[in-house]
Amino acid sequence: MTESTTVPTGASTTASPVLRLRDIHLSFGDHEVLRGIDLDVSAHEVVALIGASGSGKSTLLRTVNLLERIDDGQIFLQADDISDPRTNADAVRARIGVVFQSYNLFPHLSVLDNITLADRLVHRTPKAASEKRALELLDSVGLADKARAFPDRLSGGQQQRVAIVRSIATEPELLLLDEVTSALDPELVGEVLELVRALKSRGTTILMATHEMAFAREVADRVAFLHEGRIEEIGPPSRVLRAPERERTREFLARFL
Ligand code: ADP
Ligand code: MG
Repeated sequence: MTESTTVPTGASTTASPVLRLRDIHLSFGDHEVLRGIDLDVSAHEVVALIGASGSGKSTLLRTVNLLERIDDGQIFLQADDISDPRTNADAVRARIGVVFQSYNLFPHLSVLDNITLADRLVHRTPKAASEKRALELLDSVGLADKARAFPDRLSGGQQQRVAIVRSIATEPELLLLDEVTSALDPELVGEVLELVRALKSRGTTILMATHEMAFAREVADRVAFLHEGRIEEIGPPSRVLRAPERERTREFLARFL
């Protein structure tokens, strides 16, 4: 991936997916958690990963961000094989936004500093420009008045919205969201989902694990059902969620009725 900046990419790559996973295998000890995952995420596409707890959703997201080392397979971000052992992981992570369930913000930094930190340190954006952009983003999500606040003064929903704003402040090529609403009180879930909806309409490319089936149905272009480290079924939500072809998908979805 480090060499790619000097290599002409050619017009054909612009049509290639933002993310390509090819036959991803990963074991923890003798437990094979990812058992041959193939998945493409196209530009501006939202793909939702659903599946039981322990099916491998978080592990899959972590492999994309190079937080887990895969045993076999390939991961391409745009044209770059980021699973190549020579890959600079920090350079890859600078291209990918990530938001986890909780504990996303630095408690000792203001909202504004949380959002601008990566932009200023990793991308070397001047402070004034970085803060201007952060304030615009905060304003667009109704949190401009929280810019100088510290995370502990914000509700869980507000903190998660700030975490999402931070993840897109550097304009990543891909956004990974791992159950971003699951640690929230039910009344705070809606405002976070509203923000994800807004990102989709801005054209952000998103791979997200979620247990919010109604939300997946509404916002995802495709839904992938993971079962024991394999994609059991994938397709548009109108099919996978409403008319699943696989018995295991039906069993899983029955839990949400
Ligand atoms: P999900 O996000 O779908 O709930 P995970 O990806 O978190 O699933 O976990 C998949 C499986 O991998 C589970 O059996 C989990 O216990 C196991 N696992 C996850 N991380 C580790 C780890 N660091 N060490 C050992 N086992 C792990
Ligand atoms: Mg998980």
